[in-house]
Amino acid sequence: MFAALELGVFEATPTTAEAFAARAGADGRAVALLMDACVALGLLTKADGVYGNTEEAERYLKRDSPDTLAGYALYSSNVLWKLWDHLPDAVREGSHRWPQAFGMQGPIFSHFFKTDEAMRTFLTGLHGFGMLSSPQAIAAHDLSGVAHFVDLGGGTGHLALAFLDRYPGVRATVFDLPQVVPLTREITGGRVETMAGNFFTDPLPEADCYAVARILHDWSEPKIHTLLGKIYAALPEGGRLLICEMLVNEARTGPTRALMQSLNMLTCTEGQERTAAEYDALCRAAGFRETRAVVTGAPVDAVLAIK
Ligand code: SAM
Repeated sequence: MFAALELGVFEATPTTAEAFAARAGADGRAVALLMDACVALGLLTKADGVYGNTEEAERYLKRDSPDTLAGYALYSSNVLWKLWDHLPDAVREGSHRWPQAFGMQGPIFSHFFKTDEAMRTFLTGLHGFGMLSSPQAIAAHDLSGVAHFVDLGGGTGHLALAFLDRYPGVRATVFDLPQVVPLTREITGGRVETMAGNFFTDPLPEADCYAVARILHDWSEPKIHTLLGKIYAALPEGGRLLICEMLVNEARTGPTRALMQSLNMLTCTEGQERTAAEYDALCRAAGFRETRAVVTGAPVDAVLAIK
């Protein structure tokens, strides 16, 4: 799948293997091997020697589809796959593989954002998943009455946009690192406010509802305690925090995608995926009085913590 994506197979269909090989300057025999394997994987169809996209490939792998996950898949191919290659060492040492796979030291997002292009690939890749999951994450809890929704580390702004779609007219702000904010503005087209800053070291904008989507799973427990403590202190009484992550079941036996994502987090961050009870304990340690967890069926679930 990664190779077919990189070569642009899903943009070239319908095509024969020979025509694609000529167009891509690739070896005809090898292209046929790749395309037949993609048929077996359910990514391509084949009739009379002509290959076409399956519905799934047309929707998720074609670069210009509105629901495309091509950015995330390409990022997985170029970066995550190489980190996963060192999974045994990650397990031995309990740490991410950026130094081993890419010779990089320093904080994790300096790796994800090594160049402007790397940052865009990563965040637009996450955007694809966000477009699929944010409407369900926002709908999972009643957020009516919120006056200012601030998405901390909100990236491309898909969660804030989903919030505005459900609660039109309410203030929504994406808070993210300075190098990210221009991309947020570009993608949200000015529909959300933006604020540049570091959520560990800068004051948070005032809000009665914060969100952290795919943020807590990036960090070690001490850093999560710092962040949740800051959020709790900034919220008014009754204020809310929406946590969007894949929830692991309480026995830690599934779902598969959450446990695989947890290993992914091991190879590329300081964090992991957690159970609803673990998020509850983290939030209560910060002072929150209760949490409610909802499994959405989308790529992220939603936990609401209440001050
Ligand atoms: N919430 C978005 C989503 O669900 O698509 C993005 C999640 S991405 C895994 C982590 C986000 O946190 C990135 O947008 C990154 O720039 C931001 N981030 C990382 N460290 C940060 C910090 N110290 N302060 C503010 N934002 C930070």
